Amino acid sequence: MPNTLILAEHDQGKLKLATLSAVEFARQLCVAGGGSFHVLVLGHHIGPIVELLRPYGAAQVLSADHADLAHPLADRHAHITAAAARQIGATLVIGAASTFSKDILPRAAALLDAGMISDVVEGRPEGADFLFKRVLFAGNVIATVQLEGAVKVLTIRASAIPAAAQVGGASPVGTVSVDGALPCLTQFVAREQKAATRPDATEARIVVSGGRAIRNAEDFERLVGGLADTLGAAVGSSRALVDAGITANSLQIGQTGKVVAPDLYVAIGISGAIQHMAGMKDTKVVAAINKDSEAPIFEVADYGLVADVYEAVPQLISKLKA
Ligand SMILES: Cc1cc2nc3c(=O)[nH]c(=O)nc-3n(C[C@H](O)[C@H](O)[C@H](O)COP(=O)(O)OP(=O)(O)OC[C@H]3O[C@@H](n4cnc5c(N)ncnc54)[C@H](O)[C@@H]3O)c2cc1C
Repeated sequence: MPNTLILAEHDQGKLKLATLSAVEFARQLCVAGGGSFHVLVLGHHIGPIVELLRPYGAAQVLSADHADLAHPLADRHAHITAAAARQIGATLVIGAASTFSKDILPRAAALLDAGMISDVVEGRPEGADFLFKRVLFAGNVIATVQLEGAVKVLTIRASAIPAAAQVGGASPVGTVSVDGALPCLTQFVAREQKAATRPDATEARIVVSGGRAIRNAEDFERLVGGLADTLGAAVGSSRALVDAGITANSLQIGQTGKVVAPDLYVAIGISGAIQHMAGMKDTKVVAAINKDSEAPIFEVADYGLVADVYEAVPQLISKLKA
């Protein structure tokens, strides 16, 4: 029976929601094809994260708790991930398609001499093997692929897979030894982070996103940030604003940015280029404000307002506040 290892992601003591989508993906594969899944948590002082992951039906939650793993340095994390996969005889190793997993899992795949695919949205058993669907070309092509080799490594697109629900009980906790020499080609020096007062766009129920219509950073903060704060939402941005230096890279939604699937996506002055829509097309409800009634964003919008964002958004904020 196949054993699956899921690489859990956490930061600053918080579990990343995308991990639960990876758990759900593995759980569904186990229901369809047999076998069991194990969750691996790496870091230091990770007891609370391990506890959080115990009610999801894993055969084991594996903990690799060590001071040398306090920061997600990819060479060390990949080394332990590969060791954990060998420990449980994993034939599948899965993580969410985030920067964290994209850094670690390809290295783990190399250490395991395993094939790897990214951005998987669906998987099912096929005989003694698996077939996986993954998105290509900004979501325009869905490829069905099979991986050769005894061990397979994949990242899954969390926006396409629901988060696992708790099944009750508590999985046993196991450990992965970190006693051997860890690779140390990379050393952690410092972490600089702006105090985040808004939710992360990949986890938020509402995302308010701004495009080229916004002329400068102050206007972005006032209009996009102002509406987001009124709705308790995350902020996002098109690449046009990132390229213009108006918004940070980390806010970009789209093919080369973050992929989000909130309940509500508010597009403010965004034309709806295919590369932008690749990052938000799984949204439940799209609302768009654009002064051009022919803008492609209106083709996917459930609610559309043809208006100047500089007039409409302040009115919207004051109406919502009232
Ligand atoms: C390989 C590749 C990868 C890419 N990846 C991404 C990606 O990840 N994310 C991304 O966003 N883009 C990406 N792009 C860029 C993408 O093709 C578009 O150029 C970009 O999304 C356009 O951003 P925008 O909609 O803000 O700007 P525009 O396309 O210029 O649209 C601005 C819109 O604002 C409207 N507008 C202007 N002024 C006002 C106003 N005062 N009131 C109301 N409406 C107004 C206009 O009518 C227009 O529709 C990528 C491109 C390539 C080639």
